[in-house]
Amino acid sequence: MATVTLDNLRKEFDNGRIVAVDDVSFEVADGEFVTVVGPSGCGKSTTLRMMAGLESPTSGTIRFDDEDVTDVHARKRDVAMVFQNYALYPHKTVRQNMAFGLRMSTDLSKDERHARVAETAEMMGIEDLLDDKPSELSGGQKQRVALGRAIVREPDVFLFDEPLSNLDAKLRTTMRTEIQRLQNELGITSIYVTHDQEEAMTMGDRLAILKDGVLQQVGEPKDVYENPTNEFVGGFVGSPSMNFVDVEATGDGGSVTLSNDDGFSYALTGDVARRVSAVDARALRLGIRPEDVRVADAGEGIEATVDVVEPVGSDNYLHLDVAADFIARVDSDVEPTVGDTVEVTFDQSVVHLFDATDGDALL
Ligand code: ATP
Repeated sequence: MATVTLDNLRKEFDNGRIVAVDDVSFEVADGEFVTVVGPSGCGKSTTLRMMAGLESPTSGTIRFDDEDVTDVHARKRDVAMVFQNYALYPHKTVRQNMAFGLRMSTDLSKDERHARVAETAEMMGIEDLLDDKPSELSGGQKQRVALGRAIVREPDVFLFDEPLSNLDAKLRTTMRTEIQRLQNELGITSIYVTHDQEEAMTMGDRLAILKDGVLQQVGEPKDVYENPTNEFVGGFVGSPSMNFVDVEATGDGGSVTLSNDDGFSYALTGDVARRVSAVDARALRLGIRPEDVRVADAGEGIEATVDVVEPVGSDNYLHLDVAADFIARVDSDVEPTVGDTVEVTFDQSVVHLFDATDGDALL
């Protein structure tokens, strides 16, 4: 096992015309599971490929424990990578696929290799598939074999590049749990790339969020969810996404009102108001998570027109027009009629406030 440290990692393509990874630094502790997440093109695969040694950084360093591996060849790094497209050898059996990596990376005898493959196959529940070729397997089975092939090598570091993207939703959920269980059991330092924020939030001990090659935030899921460092992170994690309303702050001291020309008005009091009145920026963006919006009694909230009522099992998503499009996640017994006006409110302890110019969190 190893601690993986990235220091000011940068990767340019096309003679610097594309900056895929821009000055990224973070550390993954020994045995930790860190997910790297962000929208398409944000540089997550390139970051992972640099850790694997499949891409060399333009600048910056990668260390496994105290060893600088930046210029170490992929084959000499003790990492195992699992890809989205499984990358199995089509003409080899499952057994040969699993044993092949072992032959390349260890000096075990043939018998020892086969014993280790059998043991791993049992752990993965694929012992009955050992003599099959990849073409005879379902997508889920192929991914299990790809995982088995990575595990059998007992590497210092696991690298996963969107390994579940090709599986259907139900299988994806099962495999997520399986990967977490295996990682817990084996305790191998793991870095897992995904574009799916839910996957990143549920699987990672911590998550690292990238946008345009730049690291936005690294933290535990709950902390990132409750304290996003900027508007991008606030909107990226959580589903449905955080609601945003452009506002201006007026008043000072213990009484501040956030309002806009579309008739939106929300009063802050006490300590929160004092903190907002101390903020320099006047163009602000208020962020409220759908689950923090409540339907209030008449006269106690902000007026909103009901556009759509979307039932999702135990909850309803109310699509509202509150001087902006707004989603409220409420109990399924809250079923207003489309077109009606309701009043909504939210506790000031859960509101987020961002600088509308640079997106930085202010509260
Ligand atoms: P996705 O989820 O779509 O795979 P990603 O977050 O993994 O995206 P990368 O694949 O790391 O992003 O790509 C980051 C940026 O670098 C993109 O703009 C991409 O087009 C560019 N890029 C990646 N590899 C190369 C390459 N070999 N040559 C040129 N540009 C590249």
